[in-house]
Amino acid sequence: MTESRSRVGFLVAGERVQGSGTPFSSVDPATGEVNYEVAAAGAEDVARCVEAAQEAVARPGWRDMRPHERARILSAIADGIVAKADDLAAIQRRENGKVLAECRTQVASAAATFRYYAGVCETTGSEVTPSRGDYLSMTTYEPVGVVAAITPWNSPLTMEAQKIAPALAAGNAVIVKPSEVTPTAAIAVAEIALAAGLPPGLLNVLTGTGTETGVPLVRHPGVRMVSFTGGTETGRAIAQIAAGRLIPAALELGGKSPHIVFADADLDRAAAAVQDGIFEGSGQSCVAGSRLFVERKALDRMVALMRERATSLKVGMPLAPDSRMGPLASFRQRETVERFVQSARDEGGEIIAGGARPDDAALAAGAFYLPTLIGGLDGSARVVREEIFGPVLCILPFDDEEDLIAQANGTAFGLASGIWTSDVTRALRIARRIEAGTVWINTYKQLSIATPFGGYKDSGLGREKGIGGMRLYQQAKSIYLGGVKL
Ligand code: NAD
Repeated sequence: MTESRSRVGFLVAGERVQGSGTPFSSVDPATGEVNYEVAAAGAEDVARCVEAAQEAVARPGWRDMRPHERARILSAIADGIVAKADDLAAIQRRENGKVLAECRTQVASAAATFRYYAGVCETTGSEVTPSRGDYLSMTTYEPVGVVAAITPWNSPLTMEAQKIAPALAAGNAVIVKPSEVTPTAAIAVAEIALAAGLPPGLLNVLTGTGTETGVPLVRHPGVRMVSFTGGTETGRAIAQIAAGRLIPAALELGGKSPHIVFADADLDRAAAAVQDGIFEGSGQSCVAGSRLFVERKALDRMVALMRERATSLKVGMPLAPDSRMGPLASFRQRETVERFVQSARDEGGEIIAGGARPDDAALAAGAFYLPTLIGGLDGSARVVREEIFGPVLCILPFDDEEDLIAQANGTAFGLASGIWTSDVTRALRIARRIEAGTVWINTYKQLSIATPFGGYKDSGLGREKGIGGMRLYQQAKSIYLGGVKL
C-alpha cells in the first residue's frame, strides 16, 4: 500500500495502490481549486486487479455463501453508508459541485439501494419449473464472475450503488471504474464495504481515464460482464468491445426527455416540476426533462411561469443553504453548455432567460451557468436534438396529439418523459406511444429502486433496478433430475 499524503490511491483487494497510470487532479468546480491528486491505473494495474477479483470470487465462501449471510453484509454496507453520510455527501459536493441537500438525498438513496438488494438477495432464488414428464427441472442463477462497472460523474453515489449492490447480491466480484471527474466516492464506499465484512477483492476501484483505465478493463479476458452508465458514444464503443468478446453489456446512456404540458393541467404544479426536472443538478441528469412541449393555447402562460422560475432560481455555492443550483461539474462541461447555447443563437433561437454565466463576483471562479430557457426553434435545431447535460430547457409548442407524438419521439433518445394533464385517459394513451423507458404522469423524476429503469433507442440496453437488476449479473442454469414424479 502506498497512499501518499498528496495523492489518493485506488483500491485493489483492500489495499490502496498508486498505480502506473498518469495521475490527475480532482478539481472543485465551485472554486476552481484542486481538491487532491489522484492515482491512475494503467493496463498492468488493471490486470492485477482483475486477477485479484477472480481469486476473490472463486474462493469458497462468497459464491456459496447463503443468501441471508450475503444479505447481512449488504445491510451492513447500507448502515456504514448512513454512518458516513456527511463524509460521502462532502466528497460528491466537492468533486461535482451538487448542492449539499441533493448530495445528502443521493447518499440516502445509495444506502436504500444496498438495503433493497439485501432483501432481493435473500428472497429470490432458484425456481422449480412445471414438469412435462418424469423428471424434475429447475433453474438456478449463478454469478457471471467479475463485473466491470463504469460510471459517470453526475451522480456517482447512486449510479455506483445501483451497480455494486445487485452485482454483489448476485454473488459476483466488482471492479468500479468511476469517472475521472468524481473519482473518490466509490473508494469511500468500497472501504465502508470492507469494514462491513465484505471480503477483500470483491469490490475494487480503479481510477483513471476511459482510455487509460476503462478500455483495458473492458478488454481484459477475465472481465465477464460490463455494466456502463454514461454517454451514448462511449456506450457504443464499449458495446463493440463487449460484442467482440461475447460478454453482456448493460448500458444506461444519454437522454433528451420530453416534458409535456397540456392546457388542462395544473400549470403551476407542472411549472414547478419542469423546473426541478431540468435545473436540479444543473441539468446534469440523464432523465433531465430538457424539451418542454406545451399545448399551443397554454404556451404564453407557461413561458411566463417558466421565465419567472428560471430568473428567480438561486444559483450559488453548493454549501450555501439557500442555493438551489450549483455549478456545472467541470469547466469543460460549462464550455459544452456554452457551445450549445451559441448554436441555438446561430440557428435563430430566442434566449428567454439565462444564456450566460451569473453576474456575481462571488461565483466568478467556479463553473457556474444561469438557468436557461430557449424558444423559437423546432426539432431540426442541434440544441433540441442533442443531449446538452446542462441547465438548458428548449420550449416548443404543439397543436394536437399527433403533432406532439411526432415531435416527442423525434430524437435518437428514449430514456424518460413526463405528461401533465387532468385527462388520465389521454395521459395513458400518450404514455403508450412515447418511445421511452420511463413515463411520468402528473409527476416527474420520481424514481424507485424497485422499478425497472433503462432506455429505448440510443438511451441504452437492458434495465437496472428491481429484481431484474440483480438478474442482469447472473446467468441461468437449468438442471434436470430424471426419474422423478412430482
Ligand atoms: P462518459 O461516457 O464520457 O464517461 C462515462 C464513464 O466512461 C467514465 O468513467 C469514463 O472515464 C468512461 N469512459 C470513457 N470512454 C471510455 C471507453 N472508451 N472505454 C471505457 N470507459 C470509458 O459520460 P460522462 O460525461 O461521465 O457522463 C455523462 C453522460 O452519462 C450523459 O450522456 C448522461 O446522459 C449519461 N448518464 C446516463 C444515465 C442513465 O442512467 N441512463 C445516468 C447518468 C448519466
